[in-house]
Amino acid sequence: MFSYRHAFHAGNHADVLKHTALLAVLRHMTQKDTALNVFDTHAGAGLYRLDGDYAQTSGEAADGYLKLLAALAPSASTENKAPAPTPQGQAATNSAAAKPGATKSAKPATVAPALQDYLDLVASFNKAGSHKVYPGSPFIIHHLLQERDRDRLKLFEIHPTDAKTLGANIAQLNAGRSIAVLQEDGFEGLKKFLPPPSRRALVLCDPSYEIKSDYPRVVDMLTDAVKRFATGTYMVWYPIIPRPEAHDLPRKLKTLANREKLPWLNATLTVKSSKLGHDEAGEVVRPGLPASGVFVINPPHTLKAALTAALSQAAQFLAQGKHKAFEVESGN
Ligand code: SAM
Repeated sequence: MFSYRHAFHAGNHADVLKHTALLAVLRHMTQKDTALNVFDTHAGAGLYRLDGDYAQTSGEAADGYLKLLAALAPSASTENKAPAPTPQGQAATNSAAAKPGATKSAKPATVAPALQDYLDLVASFNKAGSHKVYPGSPFIIHHLLQERDRDRLKLFEIHPTDAKTLGANIAQLNAGRSIAVLQEDGFEGLKKFLPPPSRRALVLCDPSYEIKSDYPRVVDMLTDAVKRFATGTYMVWYPIIPRPEAHDLPRKLKTLANREKLPWLNATLTVKSSKLGHDEAGEVVRPGLPASGVFVINPPHTLKAALTAALSQAAQFLAQGKHKAFEVESGN
């Protein structure tokens, strides 16, 4: 069984990139009234605690969402609109998280709208001034679909524990048939739903890449999906790490999109060096995930400008040392 649990990583810099992009894509797609189908092929547990044992162990949110929040101190409402969640990760009494307000860089005069939207959305899951709950992709998607009766959300999660937690969290939304939790392989499970009856869909593919075969499976899934349904919007998150499969993935996705003559966008965010370091005792220190990317096929035309502004600020405020970088490129 897989050992990856997203609760260790919730709110890290990769989630900042992925969830900012997801929100921007959905904001655009929900402007039309026509029914929308959203598929989350690797959904996770849905809600996470930033003050729980998992998040505390890794401290990743402190270098991601919480660091950004501290730098940009959103002025928007933090009224708690979320249902009482069953977030993953046991509650702990103190937080190692960054405290809002503490930052070295000056707050910019204007926060990029897509980044502000992301910060406001996460804040809406918490009581004013509190930063304990972090929404995963299923809840971010639901947040945008909740006023739209005809939309449908399908959530695939293969891990029994996470699927159970996700099911319990989703049950509290009383969303009826509009949301389905499927404890099955998302790479395979997507096939039976494409093309969707309304011919409007977003597919988020966010594997853990815990096993090497996830890389080719992403490419295979998308190759099949665009044949079944060429006009869907497809968003893949991927890690940027020094291993050949990871390096090849965005290149293979570009080749696929170009071959099918479909528009694409590739956005990356780097916050630190990928080189091994050493601690004071001379022991090797692994840097953790230094960078990641999102590749979108059939992106909204507004996405490039929105992400360029957002990632410029995210790179500035999430950088560890001098290794900040972002890139947003597009084709077709
Ligand atoms: N998309 C989530 C979010 O943004 O909040 C995070 C998902 S996490 C990166 C990846 C999840 O995929 C894990 O919970 C893992 O158990 C699950 N998973 C791994 N292989 C899978 C598969 N073949 N099908 C469905 N889920 C899978």
